[in-house]
Amino acid sequence: MIKPLIALAALASAVCLTSAHCQADEPLGYTNTPVIPGQKWRVHDPDRTRPRSVTPGETFSHLAPPPSDANVLFDGKDLSKWKTEKGEAKWKIENGYMEVAKGAGSIRTKEEFGDFQLHLEFATPAEVKSNSQGRGNSGVIIYGKYEVQILDTYTNLTYPDGQCGAMYGQFPPLVNASQPPGVWQSYDIIFETARWDANNKLTKPASVTVLHNGVVLHNRKEYLGEVRHRDVPVYAPHAAQGFIELQDHGNPMRFRNIWIRKLGDYDKP
Ligand code: MG
Repeated sequence: MIKPLIALAALASAVCLTSAHCQADEPLGYTNTPVIPGQKWRVHDPDRTRPRSVTPGETFSHLAPPPSDANVLFDGKDLSKWKTEKGEAKWKIENGYMEVAKGAGSIRTKEEFGDFQLHLEFATPAEVKSNSQGRGNSGVIIYGKYEVQILDTYTNLTYPDGQCGAMYGQFPPLVNASQPPGVWQSYDIIFETARWDANNKLTKPASVTVLHNGVVLHNRKEYLGEVRHRDVPVYAPHAAQGFIELQDHGNPMRFRNIWIRKLGDYDKP
C-alpha cells in the first residue's frame, strides 16, 4: 500500500482541504520551542526529517493469545483492571474492544509495573476528522511520564517527534509503519524503568523498544527525561514502577487485547 502524502511535506495542506476532513486547523509543528538536548532539532520541529514509510504485515500479533504468565489487562469484557485519576474508568465497551468515551478522561492500570513487556492493539477512528495532533490521538503513557505516541499518521502530517510511535517530543519512530484509519494495529512494547542511586543521581535512563505492526520503531532507545509538550524533557527521581495510562485526547480511539508481563532477571526464579 502506498502512502504518498507522508513523503510529501509540500502537500501538508492537501490533507486538510475541506471542512469534511478538517474540523480544526492544528499546527504542523512549532518553531519557537527549545532545542532538544543533544540534537539539532527543536521540540516538535516541523522541519525534522520525516521517517520513511513501511507497509507492515497486515495482522502481525493481532489477537495474540497471552502467555501463561501474562497479566491480562483487557480481554474485551470489562475495565476492572483500569481506573481514572479520580475514580472509575468509564470508557465504552462493545464487540470486544474499549473506546474512549466523550469526557471520560484517560485511564490507567490499577496495578503498577517496573520493567515490562506490553501487548496492545488499537484502531484510530475510521471517520477521519481534524489534522495533525487532532486526528486519532492517544498514547501509551508509562507512569504518566514516558509517552509512546498513538496517532493517525497514515496520511496525516504532523511534527515527526509527535507522529505515531514517537517517543513524544524526543525521537520520531525509525519508520512510519501506520495502517489506515479504522484498521486494527498492534504495539509490542518493552520498557525498562529509570533508576537512581541513593544520592538521587540517575544511574539508568528509562528506555523503550517498540514494535508497531511487527516493525521496530525503537530499539532500547533511552528517554531524555519525562515527556513534555513544547518543552525539553527532564528527569526527576521517581519510583521504580508505576501505572500505564491510555490517553484520552478527545478522539474515539479503540483498544483491544491488552496484556503485560513483568520482566524477570537472569538466574532468578
Ligand atoms: Mg498522545
